[in-house]
Amino acid sequence: ARKAALSASSGPGATSDGHKVPLLANVGGPADVPAAVAAGAEGVGLFRTEFLFLDDSERAPSEEAQVEAYRKVLEAFPEGRVVVRVLDAGADKPLDFLTPADEPNPALGVRGLRSLLDHPEVLRTQLVALSKAAEGLPVYLEVMAPMVADRTDAKAFADACREAGLRAKFGAMVEIPSAALRARSILQEVEFLSLGTNDLAQYAFAADRQVGAVSRLQDPWQPALLDLVALSAEAAKAEGKSCGVCGEAASDPLLACVLTGLGVTSLSMGAASIPYVRATLAKYTLAQCERAAAAARAVDTAEEARVAARAVLSGE
Ligand code: PEP
Ligand code: MG
Repeated sequence: ARKAALSASSGPGATSDGHKVPLLANVGGPADVPAAVAAGAEGVGLFRTEFLFLDDSERAPSEEAQVEAYRKVLEAFPEGRVVVRVLDAGADKPLDFLTPADEPNPALGVRGLRSLLDHPEVLRTQLVALSKAAEGLPVYLEVMAPMVADRTDAKAFADACREAGLRAKFGAMVEIPSAALRARSILQEVEFLSLGTNDLAQYAFAADRQVGAVSRLQDPWQPALLDLVALSAEAAKAEGKSCGVCGEAASDPLLACVLTGLGVTSLSMGAASIPYVRATLAKYTLAQCERAAAAARAVDTAEEARVAARAVLSGE
């Protein structure tokens, strides 16, 4: 038992019967890397590159400055995975040189991949900088786009990656319900999916993530959100590709078990949550996680889903 407890406090993420679920860290830049390494992260599942752009809202950082920052993060995980998200500007993360000033609904306007496709030079510089940063390193680089709505978006992003000469896996974030509904068609263009459950909840429930009054609808235990996660994970499985979660949902240990049961293949979260998620996941088999996931989807409210999943996991 002591050995089991020890292996649950470090090492790769897995269920008690050995089904591997890599536990990755969400980082905003090199400053977050030491905590991720200390928590035993198996890599980075979400590098939010917009933090590099926030110092100067008039222009993008130079290619050299980007190469330096990306390289520091990539170097920290030799042989590990690093998933970099290209710039997600707009809505809750406005940038003067990219974000239109006069939109009535910025969360529904030109944000994320949409602003990069309107400013291809900004996207290209970022992709070239990533390519240079990864040169000569053994790291397994994956690059993904935020706010992919459909196959057209996914293709535009993959084309931009190819044109920039990037040697990496290209992926799409699933943050818009249309992307979850048509995940298989998006997977014709890209090699992996990553669920951004914060925005996916916002768009599924028409509930602004910045408005506290609608926070009930932002609860990641909402069965409708679990349905969208399941659709995406099933599509990825059918295509033989991976589907991670990098939104806040992954940092709730019990929900992490449910997400695993839904078929999610990796979990990325703030470094501080990794030990808790690792320890909880190690207590249950994959079959128990699957039963908890089915129970959570069989009810109608977030609270009922929590209770149902907990009952399955504690009763066995
Ligand atoms: C998300 O939307 O869940 C996500 C991971 O991206 P961000 O929170 O940076 O929008
Ligand atoms: Mg998002």
